[in-house]
Amino acid sequence: MDLGLKNKVYIVTGGAKGIGEAISQLIAAEGGIVVIAGRNAQDNDITVQSIIAKGGQALAVQAELGKVEDCKKVVDACVTAYGRIDGIVNNAGANDGVGLENGAPGAFMQSLQHNLSHYYNMAHYALPYLKITKGSILNIGSKVATTGQGNTSGYAASKGAINALTREWAVELLKYGIRVNTVIPAEVWTPLYETWINSLPNPAEKLASITANIPFEQRMTTSEEIANTSVFVLSERSSHTTGQILYVDGGYTHLDRSIKQ
Ligand code: NAP
Repeated sequence: MDLGLKNKVYIVTGGAKGIGEAISQLIAAEGGIVVIAGRNAQDNDITVQSIIAKGGQALAVQAELGKVEDCKKVVDACVTAYGRIDGIVNNAGANDGVGLENGAPGAFMQSLQHNLSHYYNMAHYALPYLKITKGSILNIGSKVATTGQGNTSGYAASKGAINALTREWAVELLKYGIRVNTVIPAEVWTPLYETWINSLPNPAEKLASITANIPFEQRMTTSEEIANTSVFVLSERSSHTTGQILYVDGGYTHLDRSIKQ
């Protein structure tokens, strides 16, 4: 299926690693142009070079997305380079462990700044250009917004707000023909996931117990599986889908985990 991405321009936040990288690579493989926004210049460059080596088009913009001015810088750089924006993928975020009991109020606000504010800021600054192209917005959320996890109030609040903003923006942007959707991962092996699991007392044991409870095939979701759904929903092939929150998680969030094959 041709997703119709050829020569269209997409910004992917956190697009150099993990799920974001898989989305960047897939957009490029489908003929789209990717603007990768992330704070680590070296990671950004490695992914851009890898896309270019495969014949794709990509540009990196170093940005600490927790800073409002950096979000604007990403949008400006994209428009300066390519003159248009056809979609944004709000993906950057980290489960930063700011819990109710031990997290100071300032740390909570900082977590919102790093996990939530840039979703708004990127959409806000890109909107004038998305109106021209009737582009789309794809957010990456987390099952934590639905299930909770414990000791991660800032991240949970951010992801809950992203679900709410998906509906809110889908309504506000109906008049412009701009679609807004969110894809929810649960357990995906990425650099972030590896860091998180290794922060626990018995990482191997914990990993085995998690995967054993993933209903579909008792395995983790791959970044490529998240990317396949995300890029499809981002694309015009998904032209009548808006305001949706899609769980790409092997049934982990909603199915009865006690039932085994
Ligand atoms: P990852 O492996 O850490 O990749 C995320 C990328 O985004 C990294 O390059 C990271 O840079 C960058 N980034 C994060 N926050 C940033 C900021 N404020 N400014 C600039 N760059 C930033 O993470 P991932 O596992 O692919 O997660 C991607 C998204 O999926 C996140 O929104 C996460 O909440 C969501 N998610 C993941 C899972 C999972 O199982 N992996 C589950 C549920 C939800 P650094 O390397 O410098 O941190």
